[in-house]
Amino acid sequence: MIKMARFYDLFQPQHYDVYLAIDRQTKTITGTTEIIGQAGQTKIAINQKYLKVKSVKADGENCPFEIDETSEAVWITLKKIGETKLTITYSAPLTDTMMGIYPSYYEVEGQKKQLIGTQFESTAARQAFPCVDEPEAKATFSLALKFDEHPGETVLANMPEIKVEDGTHYFAETKRMSTYLVAFAFGELQAKKTKTKSGVEIGVFATKAHQAKELEFPLEIAKKAIEFYENFYQTPYPLPHSWQLALPDFSAGAMENWGLVTYREAYLLLDPDNTSLRTKQVVATVITHELAHQWFGDLVTMKWWDDLWLNESFANMMEYVAVDAIKPEWNIWELFQVSEAPAALKRDATDGVQSVHVQVENPAEIDSIFDGAIVYAKGSRMLVMVRSLIGDAALRSGLKAYFAAHKYQNATGADLWKSLGQASGMNIGKIMNSWLEQPGYPVVSASVKNGHLKLQQQQFFIGEGQAVGRKWQLPLNCNYSAVPKILADQQVDLGDYAQLRQQAGEPFRLNVGNDSHFIVKYDDQLLQDILNQVSQLDNISQMQLLQDLSLLAEGQMISYAKIVPLLADFADSHSSLVISALYSVAGRLKKFVEPDSSEEQALRQLYQKLSSKQAQRLGWQAQKNESLDDQLSRPIVLSSALYAKDPQMMAIAHQLFQANRSELIHLPADIRFQVLRNEVENYGSLELTETLLTEYQQTADGSFKDDLSIALASAADPQQLERLIAKFQDVDTIKPQDLRSWFHGVLANPHGEQAAWDWLRAQWGWLEKKVGGDMEFATYITVISNVFRTRQRLAEFKDFFEPKLQTPGLTREIKMDIRTIASRVTLIESQQDEVNTAIAASL
Ligand SMILES: [Zn+2]
Repeated sequence: MIKMARFYDLFQPQHYDVYLAIDRQTKTITGTTEIIGQAGQTKIAINQKYLKVKSVKADGENCPFEIDETSEAVWITLKKIGETKLTITYSAPLTDTMMGIYPSYYEVEGQKKQLIGTQFESTAARQAFPCVDEPEAKATFSLALKFDEHPGETVLANMPEIKVEDGTHYFAETKRMSTYLVAFAFGELQAKKTKTKSGVEIGVFATKAHQAKELEFPLEIAKKAIEFYENFYQTPYPLPHSWQLALPDFSAGAMENWGLVTYREAYLLLDPDNTSLRTKQVVATVITHELAHQWFGDLVTMKWWDDLWLNESFANMMEYVAVDAIKPEWNIWELFQVSEAPAALKRDATDGVQSVHVQVENPAEIDSIFDGAIVYAKGSRMLVMVRSLIGDAALRSGLKAYFAAHKYQNATGADLWKSLGQASGMNIGKIMNSWLEQPGYPVVSASVKNGHLKLQQQQFFIGEGQAVGRKWQLPLNCNYSAVPKILADQQVDLGDYAQLRQQAGEPFRLNVGNDSHFIVKYDDQLLQDILNQVSQLDNISQMQLLQDLSLLAEGQMISYAKIVPLLADFADSHSSLVISALYSVAGRLKKFVEPDSSEEQALRQLYQKLSSKQAQRLGWQAQKNESLDDQLSRPIVLSSALYAKDPQMMAIAHQLFQANRSELIHLPADIRFQVLRNEVENYGSLELTETLLTEYQQTADGSFKDDLSIALASAADPQQLERLIAKFQDVDTIKPQDLRSWFHGVLANPHGEQAAWDWLRAQWGWLEKKVGGDMEFATYITVISNVFRTRQRLAEFKDFFEPKLQTPGLTREIKMDIRTIASRVTLIESQQDEVNTAIAASL
């Protein structure tokens, strides 16, 4: 890898005057950028990408310049070093890539409309204006915007507008900030606003395709989140306003631009009268994630992209801390346990995975380090470990000191450990570095040998992995008081087991609370001791038991056949956490059965056995005053009953569909997907496909859209699936941002797998052109690796992707995904027979 020069070493900007004129009709941008800064040498480089630079002046005089596409820069030759004012004029195309400055498309009452917005992280500010596009190059920005404006349009930016002159909108100078956080937007918008106790203006903005009431929930959460963070961080929100803007075309989930956070519509807006509890929870955590960044990421920013985790891991923990404070009745940490924890544990077990802290130089590779399961999920688990080690009082005072020391500047991981270490009196850096710098995590084997209870840690792999003797500093969180807090060695002898067991009076358990990033393999004796009292375990422990066992089975350390008979013990739980874990394990059995085989039939019977009692209890209609657990469990249980082909449940779902045919959106949101899917799968027709596609195209409700798309992809008739694939490239029906989910849906359906795979291979060039510049592009490969399960598919996958190994940003993903598929193929080959025998025996 070529070591790229940091342009900040050559020129340090202090202030930008950015003037942009945008013409939506001709799709052009013309701009003038003035940068005042310090030149360290006479040859300097300013980032640019796709800009047609017309002139470069230094202190008013034209100077020679050279465009360098490889380093995405314009190289400028100055006459002197020291303070310099650069003036660069240029033009650029307005493109549909969801990066840089780009239009979003939508319709209001059949009329096509556009909304212009921005997405600059990680390296696309340079597509909008020339800049030193590195997080460390913080400066102040004065933005001036002109566009082909018509009455009724709203213009938003990081800071408030201060004046309009000759049709140009001028915005207040920003605080010192990084380029990737600059943002603006304009178009026909509706808004809802309020103020925090401390006087910060909070606003939610959306197109007029939405109902006004969809802005209420996010407004409440955003206001409460800012108030929560001001208190928790003991540091005021630094800007006059906090705008939340929903963009119809948006590649990621949301983006923390300082003062102007942008969101995918489905992650901000929701109908307060008909949205499932789970969707509300997810939307709330997305908002609190972005608002956590307003301090952690925006006020204090990582020095370079290798410390991306510092932003993301932290925001990913704080989103739960904040929602837990705002909506304590939700028990939001349970969502953490069923989403972040398993995602991290699965991906981090594949050899070749990146560490949380990861070296990165090339701009094309920066996007590829945004690995959701690692930088977000694993990183947040690491910080949850820190939080449980030092407690909230030390966390808060450490953070306060961290913000005070680094505000409007940059920081590294070491700076955070220093602040938290001083606040807690613990050497946090030493404990955390083993997690930060090493990929993977350990399995701790707990066993009784010669009467002694012994622990041993070794790296856990799913699939082939090369053990290189890694060790971690493990917070053991054991329920036996005689056990040390941290395991730092490879192994430890805890002494006489019989004595320990008697003293404690309960089965030996590690990682109580499931906050530490490791799994446990108990020997038969210890496991049996736990299983004998399984009903007395708390919900998290029950979930953890299922989760750890299934990971051990994925890693071939035990057989899935051993887990199958245990499932029934959890089936009647009233905890949504346990129900969610149960069916996630049951779902992993699906890979062992061939579609439409007698084995599949047996698996459906197992599902019937597990779900029928609960399906009767919960029913299709929410009960008055029912628990939140029941609300969350209902969709999972009903989905399982429908997979089981429970005739009574299928009939009710069919009736519900027929009765609500004319207004499907009004079906209760937490069972709507199940009703739609049942209809498509069991009573489908081409006509129904067309009807639902039209509904999909016309609705602005994000969760209804999701329900429709996943339901449509479950058709049993290949012809209906072909019809969907034919729409993949029709951007008026399926927005590029949603295509991956559509593709995955059809691919994961055995009746559509071949056609979807053929489509992807044939249209790869189109896809690359359409979304290749997008941060999420590599995840098209990830979703394929989550589906393929045969040797033939593995060979086809290799044939197609191995020649693309050199594509920057795809290398790691392709290598890891080959391992993922290979390990699944091996697992199926070695366990298939015994698993199916166990399923048959459990009926
Ligand atoms: Zn984030």
